[in-house]
Amino acid sequence: MGEEPHLTFDLDKPGTSKGHLIVPKGADCEALSLPVFSLNKGEGSRLLITGGCHGDELEGPIVARRLIEWLPLTHCGRAIVVPVLNPPAVQAGSRNTPVDGFNLNRVFPGRADGSVTERVADAISRLLLPMAETVFDLHSFGPKWDFPRKKSFTTTVPPPSN
Ligand SMILES: [Zn+2]
Repeated sequence: MGEEPHLTFDLDKPGTSKGHLIVPKGADCEALSLPVFSLNKGEGSRLLITGGCHGDELEGPIVARRLIEWLPLTHCGRAIVVPVLNPPAVQAGSRNTPVDGFNLNRVFPGRADGSVTERVADAISRLLLPMAETVFDLHSFGPKWDFPRKKSFTTTVPPPSN
């Protein structure tokens, strides 16, 4: 086995910092470099926020990038944000990784000697999941899903009583 997955920066550095999570190359794909944002701001919850697990769900990466701007103003504790977990799938706009056909959301904890999707899961599992007590993995409908008609969303929540 060659290179180990690693971070290009110190997640424990106080304040905000940015770097990359390096997913080693394999027989099927060159090494991947996933942008990572880190916030260390005193005591508080330890969050990991990820988007782009499925490459055809672009709301996750968009929301994650907005959180990178918003979290330093509001969040206390630690937050790690990875806007795009699966760059090959996002570049292709496909749910699964085009290189190996795998669904990243189904291969955790991954394999260090596996295909590219399994190597991404392995890197996340080993380096980022242990840092968090709560994980928000942002998903959405994607282009193939139809919203139910508005009538289906009618709720029975009573109006405010003030
Ligand atoms: Zn999804």
